[in-house]
Amino acid sequence: MSTVAEADLAALFHPYTNLVKHPETGPMVITRGQGVRVYDEAGKEYIEGLAGLWCTTLGWGEERLAEVAAAQMRELPFYHLFSSKAHTPGVRLAEALKALAPVSDSKVFLACSGSEANDTAIKMIWYRNNALGRPQKKKIISRERAYHGVTVATGSLTGLPVNQRGFDLPIERILHTGCPHYWRYGEKGESEEQFATRRAEELEKLILAEGPDTVAAFFAEPVMGAGGVIVPPKGYFEKIQAVLKKYDVLLVADEVITGFGRTGNMFGCDTFGIRPDMMTVAKALSSGYLPISALIVSGEVFEPIKAQSGEIGSFGHGLTYGGHPVPAAVALETLKIYAERDIVGHVRKVAPVLQDGLRALQQHPLVGEARGLGLIGALELVADKDTKTAFDPKLAVGARVVAKAQAHGVILRAMGDAVAFAPPLVIEADDIRLLLERFRLALDEAHGELVA
Ligand code: PLP
Repeated sequence: MSTVAEADLAALFHPYTNLVKHPETGPMVITRGQGVRVYDEAGKEYIEGLAGLWCTTLGWGEERLAEVAAAQMRELPFYHLFSSKAHTPGVRLAEALKALAPVSDSKVFLACSGSEANDTAIKMIWYRNNALGRPQKKKIISRERAYHGVTVATGSLTGLPVNQRGFDLPIERILHTGCPHYWRYGEKGESEEQFATRRAEELEKLILAEGPDTVAAFFAEPVMGAGGVIVPPKGYFEKIQAVLKKYDVLLVADEVITGFGRTGNMFGCDTFGIRPDMMTVAKALSSGYLPISALIVSGEVFEPIKAQSGEIGSFGHGLTYGGHPVPAAVALETLKIYAERDIVGHVRKVAPVLQDGLRALQQHPLVGEARGLGLIGALELVADKDTKTAFDPKLAVGARVVAKAQAHGVILRAMGDAVAFAPPLVIEADDIRLLLERFRLALDEAHGELVA
């Protein structure tokens, strides 16, 4: 029988992978996890510095989630929510999210992934504007370096070239405005507040140029994740929301990474004073244990959709596995655990260890900017700290540092030359220190090579 690595090369089409280089490097096969650590085939231990893909908030080996899943499998392994059918985990999860999310008079739609929740949001926005008799108001604005998923529509919202090159994206009706990264895009002498004003003015100009009666919604991650962990500048969301309100443009908060404690509040919206019309969550909703996502919509968004479904005969959108009872039961248990263990309180307690540690690494010759809040952060690696000059992309410095960190027992992810940190939310201070110590060794080694 073939090894897992051999079978991988023969059979598996890897997502987000250089498919030409993959056979040379081969797969890294992870076999098990416990707490904030995972182990490969050879038994080597790694601290998971990105909680898998920003999702395994409770770490690996949480027995309660395994037990709830098994019990739900036995009781009701499948049922759907189409045509007025319901099941207890789906309904109770909707009830819990309605109580938790800062969306007024909300209703909750359940899907399986972040992409599907955002895609559903786009369809609801279009459907609603047809219902309101303004079929021309359909354009959607997101931001350069945003990440909202990979379906045809959400891959268009995503503002990263790698997700669009070769795929004929973005599609029509999707527009992008500037990225709110002050350190990178702020002009000489411009304060953070002035930069935020400039970004809001750019948004307003774009809406006016397109025609406010054609612009339906604005999508934003409270902290941009895959774009390199971009924390918005002071006052940014306040100014953006004023523009959106002025032109009757809905705000969709994509909390797929920031939801459930990551920023030191239950939602990134709480951290930044965002009052969204719609909010999407996934990942931490089930601590990544099973695929599930949710779209929480305000009463104002819901009512015209409801009326339109009455006229058409049905709201003609739904996913076979959307709100599947097993992931729904696991998500409900996850939310219970967050409350019992005061996950937000824990994040606030240990966050300074991560944030101070990252800020201390700002002194390192390779680090241009250390940024983040709560248990999410990034280090931007640059060729010249004073001029903020980036490395030649061919050097793949971010990937090189991440590979070295892996050799030292830390798994991280590079977005270009920004290395992201988002460990499981249950991580303790000592493990954050160990993670940063191991990372520092990787930085030193890469620096040694680059100056040699
Ligand atoms: N939105 C954000 C902010 C994300 O980070 C992601 C995934 O990383 C998505 C949406 C897409 O989620 P999924 O990969 O579950 O489709």
